[in-house]
Amino acid sequence: MRLTQGPTRAAQQTPDLAATVFGGRTRTWRESQDRVARFAAALRALGVETGDRVAILSLNRDDYHEVQLAVPWSGGVTVPVNTRWSVEEIAFSLADSGTRVLIVEHTFRTMVPGILERAPGVGTVIHVGDDVGDGEHAYEDLIARHDPVPDALRGGDDLAAIYYTGGTTGRPKGVMLSHANLLSSALGTAATEHFLVPGGRLLHTAPMFHLADGAAWVARNLVGGTHVIVPGFDPVGVGSAVAEHEVTDALLVPTMIQMLVDSPEAASYDLSSFQRVVYGASPISEAVLDRAAKRLPTAEFSQLYGMTELSPVCTILTPDDHGRDGLRRSAGRAAPHSEVRVVDDEDRDVPPGTVGEIVSRGPHVMLGYWNRPEETDTALRGGWMHTGDGGFLDEHGYLFVVDRIKDMIVSGGENVYSAEVENALARHPAVSSCAVIGVPDEQWGERVHAVVVIAPGASTTAEELRDHCRALIAGYKCPRSVEFVEALPISGAGKILKRELRAPYWETAGRGVS
Ligand code: ATP
Ligand code: MG
Repeated sequence: MRLTQGPTRAAQQTPDLAATVFGGRTRTWRESQDRVARFAAALRALGVETGDRVAILSLNRDDYHEVQLAVPWSGGVTVPVNTRWSVEEIAFSLADSGTRVLIVEHTFRTMVPGILERAPGVGTVIHVGDDVGDGEHAYEDLIARHDPVPDALRGGDDLAAIYYTGGTTGRPKGVMLSHANLLSSALGTAATEHFLVPGGRLLHTAPMFHLADGAAWVARNLVGGTHVIVPGFDPVGVGSAVAEHEVTDALLVPTMIQMLVDSPEAASYDLSSFQRVVYGASPISEAVLDRAAKRLPTAEFSQLYGMTELSPVCTILTPDDHGRDGLRRSAGRAAPHSEVRVVDDEDRDVPPGTVGEIVSRGPHVMLGYWNRPEETDTALRGGWMHTGDGGFLDEHGYLFVVDRIKDMIVSGGENVYSAEVENALARHPAVSSCAVIGVPDEQWGERVHAVVVIAPGASTTAEELRDHCRALIAGYKCPRSVEFVEALPISGAGKILKRELRAPYWETAGRGVS
């Protein structure tokens, strides 16, 4: 199987259906397919050969969809670039991946000279955007000047893309994913019937460079239907796109759900076309889930747990599971394509209910980290992907993710899992969002510390929040200190950057940050 297969089928079966809707522009599957085959011809004319890396640095747009198909169509390998990165970080990923051609949206044009200086291997830059002139390498110009070429038919275990990890815990790593990796995750997820509405309209508001959205993109291409694309996430933009294009499903990360349902500006939009909302990529609190269910009463909610290295889906919590007692804190059960275990330091299974490291095996496990054989061997030892996430399984195979192992707090010899404390805190009505970290403490080794953003118009105190938590969780888990901030540091993929919150505390303690 190959990534271009679904769109080829869609062009045959639903040629007049909108493939992409972006701003005021709609492109049918017939048009989209023609443009893909022409742009693939341009890439070949520019010297792209089998296995060459072609990067794209762009906010979400319809052309992103085409580029992600045209690159494998030409024989190349796609490298989606995180749009929140600095010139330095972008250049690192391009040099690290050995990228030859960079496709860049006009928004990022001013970064190009700095990028090329630091990543001299990039020989060609193609400009995409509505105000690009008729230059030699303007995307539209290239499409107009080339005739369609046949698909290179790369597929199966061939490398399809190098996705860089979110960089939540450190320097991003290039994850090598094959066509089979990406398609098995998408097919397995779609097979649960909770992922996408068949023939529906999928909203892309999460960044397309991140595999959370990428996975939904792959699945929509297979299932058929329409991609409704907005440049990025903002509650009003999402509200108006959903209302205008009758969006049926979306992949949202928890921070987006929270912002969407709490936004007074987006409150007036009709969101009743939503049938399925899939969330994942970081933990969600039950309080946010409750608010989301009220604001989006027509939507079924599913949760995905996974990671870039797992293409990315590992487990699914279905809409039915959301209604079952005690399961809303779970990340669900192994998806059809995936096997899951929880193991100790020596890779032995731990009994149900015991926390260990989550590992997964199956056709969705990455080929490896690009240019990092040792890290690949460590991560994939014994044929299982070691996620670095702590969790436990219950007797029926439901997985509970408790924390990233690096984020676990050991206070007075007791393990404290930040997700549990965050969940308790978030149930306080004055808490809009929060993060719990371990900070150095003379007496306890580490102390549970909460960083809290207060909801607009609300007020509370550290004392009140501690009392609130004490009623919900054991005393040693309750925050010993609380800090109030305007906003939490968020990564390009919408995740809370705990290493940034931890850094000042550990630096003063002279211990460095892990
Ligand atoms: P890096 O590996 O560079 O530090 P990252 O781990 O954030 O970045 P991703 O591959 O985007 O990069 O994210 C995968 C991680 O996100 C998982 O290992 C897990 O910690 C977290 N995660 C994903 N889904 C869920 C979920 N449903 N619940 C809790 N955590 C989740
Ligand atoms: Mg990771």
